[in-house]
Formats: sequence, structure tokens, C-alpha cells
Amino acid sequence: MDGTVLLIEDEPDIADLLRLYLEREGFSMVHAETGEDGLERLREREAAMVLVDIGLPGIDGIEVCRRIRATSDVPVIMLTARDSEVDKVVGLEIGADDYVTKPFSPRELVARVKAVLRRSRGRPAAPRVIEVGGFAIDGGRREVATPDGRVVRPTAREFDLLWYLAEHRGLVLSRGQILEAVWGYDYFGETRTVDVHIRQLRRKLEGIPIETVWGVGYRLEDG
Ligand code: CA
Repeated sequence: MDGTVLLIEDEPDIADLLRLYLEREGFSMVHAETGEDGLERLREREAAMVLVDIGLPGIDGIEVCRRIRATSDVPVIMLTARDSEVDKVVGLEIGADDYVTKPFSPRELVARVKAVLRRSRGRPAAPRVIEVGGFAIDGGRREVATPDGRVVRPTAREFDLLWYLAEHRGLVLSRGQILEAVWGYDYFGETRTVDVHIRQLRRKLEGIPIETVWGVGYRLEDG
């Protein structure tokens, strides 16, 4: 089996061990030590699978998984250190495909990786490009082709926001819903943050059919 596995884990010993086992099975492994770094790596290149440790410096693995799910269907396996973390993974429905509890045997983890990949290959791939109002929003390249033929690359957050609207095009989304999906559950910012980013998108993508639904939120018009 081939593919790149992105490991987000702050313990170098575990990373070294997993690299050994994954490479032996024909995978290549990219290692990030923090959630922020991992998300950045995922923006730069596609991964067949992401392994995320829950206990990370900076944003934790739960939040990393949420942010991945806001824009991507890549399979995710969570690495947990405690039973209480397992409850969190299962209870919060953060969209992880599986989890393993530390200490785990590398052999078992590799078996889980293969099983999750087999399952995920059976499900239809999410469209990589969504077209609305003459704009082509490319989820893989994270850029937008405008009706007049220009290519615009919004900031990472602006793109996450646009992609979320695009995946739910035709639906009215509240500012709270958008904040939770794009900024994450634990983000305590104001809903005005959403307005600011929408304004930026409208400025960069003149004519993008993002409609303001007064008193509720926003809708990207379908078609
Ligand atoms: Ca850790």
C-alpha cells in the first residue's frame, strides 16, 4: 500500500518508531510536532491519512481533528494517552475514523492504518472543485479561479471559510455555526470575526454570490 501518512505527535521516540514501521510497509511519513505545524503541512500537500496525538503543545489533537474536518475528508486516527481522552474522542463526534490508546504496538497501529484506508477508499471522494456563480473553488489547491480567468489565493482561514460555505451552498449558515466549524469549538472570538472574513472574501472575489441573511448569517448561492 502506498501513500503519505502525516503524523502529528510531539514525542520524538514515538515518531521514530512509527516511521520505521510505516516505511517498512511502503508508506512515507511526514512528521509535525505541533497541531499548527501539522495543519500547515496538510495545506501544503495531500496525505492519505493523518495520525493525531491528543496531547500536543498549543492546540490539542481534538481541535486539530475538528479543523481538518472543516475542510477535508482525509482519514484521521487519534492517538490517546488516557481513557478519559477516549471518551472525548468518541463523545464529541469530532469526525475521527478510529483511535488507539497508548502504549500501542506499532504493528497494531499499522494494521489500523491499513483498515481505515481500505474503508475510506470505498467511499466516494468529496469533490475537489466546487463551482458557484462562475467561480471555481479548488479544495485541493486552495485557490479560486474567477469568472474573468484570474486565480486568487485567499488566506488559509478565508479559504476554510469559503470552502465551508461552498460545501453547504444553498443553505443559510449562522455565524455561530460558521465559527464553530471554521475556527473550532473552543474559539471564544466574536461572531464579528466571521463578518470581517466574509468582507475580505467579497473584496478579493468580486461578485462571489455570498448572500447576507439578515439576523441569521450567510448563504453561498448555489448554481
Ligand atoms: Ca503528546
